[in-house]
Amino acid sequence: MTKNCNNDYKMKFSLEEEFPDLSQHNHHMSKVLNKDISNKLRSKSIPSGFTLDDCIQTGVDNPGHPFIMTVGCVAGDEESYEVFKDLFDLIISDRHGGYKPTDKHQTDLNWENLKGGDDLDPNYVLSSRVRTGRSIKGFTLPPHNSHGERRAVEKLSIEALNRLDGEFKGKYYPLKDMTDKEQEQLIADHFLFDKPVSPLLLAVGMARDWPDARGIWHNDNKSFLVWVKEEDHLCVISMQKSGNMKEVFRKFCIGLQEIEDIFKKHNHGFMWNEHLGFILTCPSNLGTGLRGGVHVKLPILSTHAKFEEILTRLHLQKRGTGGVDTASVGCVFDISNADRLGSSEVQQVQLVVDGVKLMVEMEKKLEKGESIDNMIPAQK
Ligand code: ADP
Ligand code: MG
Repeated sequence: MTKNCNNDYKMKFSLEEEFPDLSQHNHHMSKVLNKDISNKLRSKSIPSGFTLDDCIQTGVDNPGHPFIMTVGCVAGDEESYEVFKDLFDLIISDRHGGYKPTDKHQTDLNWENLKGGDDLDPNYVLSSRVRTGRSIKGFTLPPHNSHGERRAVEKLSIEALNRLDGEFKGKYYPLKDMTDKEQEQLIADHFLFDKPVSPLLLAVGMARDWPDARGIWHNDNKSFLVWVKEEDHLCVISMQKSGNMKEVFRKFCIGLQEIEDIFKKHNHGFMWNEHLGFILTCPSNLGTGLRGGVHVKLPILSTHAKFEEILTRLHLQKRGTGGVDTASVGCVFDISNADRLGSSEVQQVQLVVDGVKLMVEMEKKLEKGESIDNMIPAQK
């Protein structure tokens, strides 16, 4: 096992002395971490030096979140999921509906397998978006990147993305070359990520050396975008106004696979295995890493007593208009797939397309003062 002097130092203290106080915590990590697991894992470290303490730091520092059930744990390398398997397996099962260590994930990026999705009512669906993260093999993950490594990932990404052409032809804009005003405008238009200010992200070191080696690449009409070094090495996004999710998914699948081919030619494939699918920093994103969603206006349905239950039954989640940490503005919600692991990209986007269609029908019924009781789906 590789030496991590800081971790060796901690081993001078007993398990009892080192074990964190999680009595006030409520997230997936605090639910499953116990002293037996800690005892087994706390002396281990990955060749890069990442340790159990590094994995769980964000969860120790952040007892919970007002809107979502957080994970409380991150990976620092591809190997984290293997070396700290005893912890990650339990977290993954708890977060992903009982997904077992022997389960196999499915990948399907053939957009033609999606049924429908080109006709979500634009009077309600304002925009459609599909995103996923990708980690580039041969580098540690963002919580653990050194300054130089982060710059190397950025350099490789620019080289690869600059080879895209046709509808994907675009340009890279490093954050450090943008004015505050330019950044604010891109964020307000929902194209760019915000500086990590959430304590969840700060505790894993996501904002170290900000804004160096971070940026956004996008095609000319800003319908295909790649964030470089936000929460993952890459976040690939396809988005456009209105309700044609099929077109958004088509562009997502084709562009993403072109990017992967280019990275492979540079001898840097994406981290993936049969069990976990695409390997990403946050265990909640394992599998497809996909969040396909729409901004949809639901003024009446969103105040209905069964709104939350409907979302759960449709395997959907809601976020605010400005993203995960925000509230809804003007009854516009970001409705997206809740599951990422164990089902394919096509299946997850299909749930969004079918679910949103149903919710818009419900909204229209409610507008007419009619009941939606017989439209609520059964528990799947
Ligand atoms: P993610 O983790 O998928 O990137 P966030 O909740 O962090 O999502 O939000 C990132 C940005 O994407 C925010 O500006 C949010 O408003 C925007 N966004 C998310 N879904 C949509 C959508 N369907 N249409 C337009 N913008 C969206
Ligand atoms: Mg995000």
